[in-house]
Amino acid sequence: MTIALPANAMVVLVGIAGSGKSTFAQARFAPTEILSSDTFRGMLADDEADQSVSVDAFDLLHAALRLRLRRGRLTVVDATNVEEWGRRQLLDIANRERRAAVAIILDLPLDVCLERLAGRGARPVPVHAVRRQQRELHRSLPTFAAEGFNAVYAIHSATEADTARIERTPRQGAGCNAMSRRNRARRDDARSSNRHRNA
Ligand code: GDP
Ligand code: MG
Repeated sequence: MTIALPANAMVVLVGIAGSGKSTFAQARFAPTEILSSDTFRGMLADDEADQSVSVDAFDLLHAALRLRLRRGRLTVVDATNVEEWGRRQLLDIANRERRAAVAIILDLPLDVCLERLAGRGARPVPVHAVRRQQRELHRSLPTFAAEGFNAVYAIHSATEADTARIERTPRQGAGCNAMSRRNRARRDDARSSNRHRNA
């Protein structure tokens, strides 16, 4: 799989804990291009696993994302991003800065992720939390394409993840990268149907 990324895009990694998001990002992007929610938790609490600082950690992540995109710097968001409302916050930032938004979904089997987490040692994640993340992810997959991303790539196996390559394409200007009116309408439809489902 070749993943085409405009050189000033926002790249949103999506996947449950242990799906390999950080490994994928670190192998393909410069450290300064990656905004990791774990890193911001660590910055605030000296503990990357401290979920109690998540709100502040994401405030910082969003601020850094906004300012990098404003400067036209490609930026990768390394967080689970399995919840639609969290992705919407990221999309709103990219839209406001008129940058393309690309999602890369690492939808690996739960067993594989749990096994890897067991082997990772540091930062244990409770199994029930990982299961909840997977339910959340699978619930949003059918409507993912309508959320407003300019492109969505889905990876389903470790082999696919290993062999996926990034191709950087020229920067997109304000005229051609903003979400099209049609995409915006599809996203709004998806949001209202999600609201009905959640009601
Ligand atoms: P994240 O929670 O989605 O960021 O997942 P990580 O990137 O931290 O990966 C979780 C664990 O799986 C780590 O111990 C990685 O070394 C391991 N891992 C990640 N990607 C792969 C892979 O493609 N193959 C194998 N065998 N292990 C991987
Ligand atoms: Mg990670």
